[in-house]
Amino acid sequence: MAKIGIYGGTFNPPHLGHILAAKEFQRVLGLDLLLFVPVYLPPHKVLPPDTPDATRRLELLRLATENVPFALVDDLEFRRAGASYTVETLRALKERYPRDKLYLCMGTDMLLSFDSWYHPKEICALAQVVMAHRNDADESTLEDYAHTFKKRYGKAPLFIPNDFLEMSSTAVRRLLILGGAEADLDPKVYRRIHELGLYGVNRNRKNLPFEQLKQESLQLHNESRVNHVIGCSETAVELAKVHGANVEDAARAGILHDVTKALSGADQLRLCETYGIIIDDFLRTHTKLLHAPTAAAVAEHVFGENPAVCEAIRWHTSGRANMSILEKIIYVADYMEPNRDFPGVEELRRLAYSDLDAALLLGLEMTQEHLAQQHAPMGQASQEAMAYLRQGMKNT
Ligand code: FE
Ligand code: FE
Repeated sequence: MAKIGIYGGTFNPPHLGHILAAKEFQRVLGLDLLLFVPVYLPPHKVLPPDTPDATRRLELLRLATENVPFALVDDLEFRRAGASYTVETLRALKERYPRDKLYLCMGTDMLLSFDSWYHPKEICALAQVVMAHRNDADESTLEDYAHTFKKRYGKAPLFIPNDFLEMSSTAVRRLLILGGAEADLDPKVYRRIHELGLYGVNRNRKNLPFEQLKQESLQLHNESRVNHVIGCSETAVELAKVHGANVEDAARAGILHDVTKALSGADQLRLCETYGIIIDDFLRTHTKLLHAPTAAAVAEHVFGENPAVCEAIRWHTSGRANMSILEKIIYVADYMEPNRDFPGVEELRRLAYSDLDAALLLGLEMTQEHLAQQHAPMGQASQEAMAYLRQGMKNT
């Protein structure tokens, strides 16, 4: 009797996290064979824009797994076409391997939707469900899960720690456009993606008309940030009209100011390498702030924006001494756009239209207070910005 693992997913694209996770499944479960089963059409998901067709995805997966000795790519869901149901895949595999033990390997995130799967009880009868969880997952929560799961489907899942599943294809797709995906992909996969221009990698994004810029850049955000970014852009336009700044630049800087915000701290640091951004110890330990310099680099190198726009993005979290009007506008618009709601925001909105410097200083002071409450230090650039503004106010 052989032990056969089944690892399903969209693998869109297949990345090193998938390969490392597969190796971990093999090692812990002692698998003789691991089948990568790419999903033709996931019943629960709509595939993101720029997803290559099924044949291309299969080709990439074959390239990615070529050198994994115990792994095979099985395209049975592709050959069946139509919506992919795990239970049908397991029925087919049970027929093919009647005497062997099947392990269905997945991440704990699947647990949440497992109830809505097609014939969950039969799935559990055909295969041992294996749930990979993060190393730091709470043991008693997992035990509770296992208990409920067993009561519902007749057999408890096996839990194994596997941090590699945390790497996400969404992040890799974003990095392919923003720069820095090379480290996450097998070199053959990376090369093929560029040869064929998959995932929109070769599209020229420089100097796009605003509506197109908006569309391209919004794809790089998590859903929850989209309204903030649109709000910031629209507010920046209003402020630019009042204070005599370039309206087009304001709209563009607003829409791009957080363009790298969805990336993790580690991915931010990788973008710094890609674009030669030099960072000090303060930024290295405050990776949340890195999205300002990385977004500025992306605005320049990916979207071909002008220096005024890039600088406004660069300083939108910290401010600095002697800011341009556009820099001030983006800082303030980010703070007060219509989706923001905190004590003092009304005062900030009122000031923003009458006295931009006063609004900027108020924003910096509120940030300082917020940081002080968390016993966090304020960066050098912000301190210089405040000193500069106060000096200027004294002189007038
Ligand atoms: Fe930001
Ligand atoms: Fe923002």
